[in-house]
Amino acid sequence: MTSEGLPDLRREPHPNPLPDEERERILADPVFGTVFTDHMFSMTWTEGRGWHSATVKPYGPLTLSPAAAVLHYAQEIFEGLKAYRYEDGGIGLFRAEANARRLNISATRMAMPHLPEEWFLASVRELLAVDGAWVPGQDESTLYLRPYMIASEAFLGVRPAKEYQYLLIASPAAAYFKGGPKPLTLWVSEEYNRAGPGGTGAAKAGGNYAASLLPQSEAIEQGCDQVIFLDAVEFKYVDELGGMNLFFAYEDERVLYTPELGTILPGITRDAILTLAAEAGWEVRETKYSIDRWRRDAESGLLTEAFACGTAAVITPVGTVKSRSGEFQVGGGEAGKFTMHLRQTLLDLQYGRAEDTHGWTT
Ligand code: PMP
Repeated sequence: MTSEGLPDLRREPHPNPLPDEERERILADPVFGTVFTDHMFSMTWTEGRGWHSATVKPYGPLTLSPAAAVLHYAQEIFEGLKAYRYEDGGIGLFRAEANARRLNISATRMAMPHLPEEWFLASVRELLAVDGAWVPGQDESTLYLRPYMIASEAFLGVRPAKEYQYLLIASPAAAYFKGGPKPLTLWVSEEYNRAGPGGTGAAKAGGNYAASLLPQSEAIEQGCDQVIFLDAVEFKYVDELGGMNLFFAYEDERVLYTPELGTILPGITRDAILTLAAEAGWEVRETKYSIDRWRRDAESGLLTEAFACGTAAVITPVGTVKSRSGEFQVGGGEAGKFTMHLRQTLLDLQYGRAEDTHGWTT
């Protein structure tokens, strides 16, 4: 990764960053998404000029016109990745190039400009160069990085904006599950969808998440952790959760199923699991997987494990699935062996504890 080429790069160090003792106190038990590092990165795109004004500056409020297009028509995309503290004190990233690529796939769908992948990576490098001390050290804690792009042009017409801001902020995060992962209880949304064919489901766009909040609240009301979205045509096939992809493991046959791409977010963790499971001797099938099959095979015991995956919670077993018509358990509601094996394999790669034979770590 290099910062060379970041257009008009300016570095404005924070005049009074948080004192070391206060930062260390926060890092000992960070509450995800509530505290941000001393600095942020920003860059502007203007029609006819392209990207310019790359700046590393103190974290602080944006100046935005009340007419900025993002505030009206939700032209916004984002990414989520983590910086990991290695045992030797170094800082590692996991498949950051894949996040850079996915941001541009989202940009295409939302009619936004592409950000050259090397500038995405350079922005991460620049922020970590000034705020590296914010990467926590204890077990499974990380510095969560949030790159995003907004339409900042002041214009109320409905068309792609002519000015955008790319921003990068960072927030320290504790282990998602303290003391190891707890099997999830999931709620099947039979009334709301997340994404339909031809829609924006495969883009990491803020609007998708706004639409998921009501069904997610319903899941919480039902005593569940997360919502399962089904396909928007037949309400029959499993898509994904509000913020994680799903896998189904059949130990006897050593076959692992996951919903095919199309209307779901192409998770980077999902993609890594496809590779790691194949290397563990499992056959992986990306295909339609119905909620009826899930129930039937869980009840017969043919389906031995199910798990959810994403950057935030890595790999998390699914214990129970609830819907208006009843509930069922997977693998007796306990975390499965293969699930936990994959989880450990992934964590060892992310924290630089295992040899990286895939070129996934930086
Ligand atoms: N699906 C959705 C809807 C998500 O928001 C996320 C989190 N980015 C995922 C899946 C998992 O993606 P990843 O493995 O890249 O974090």
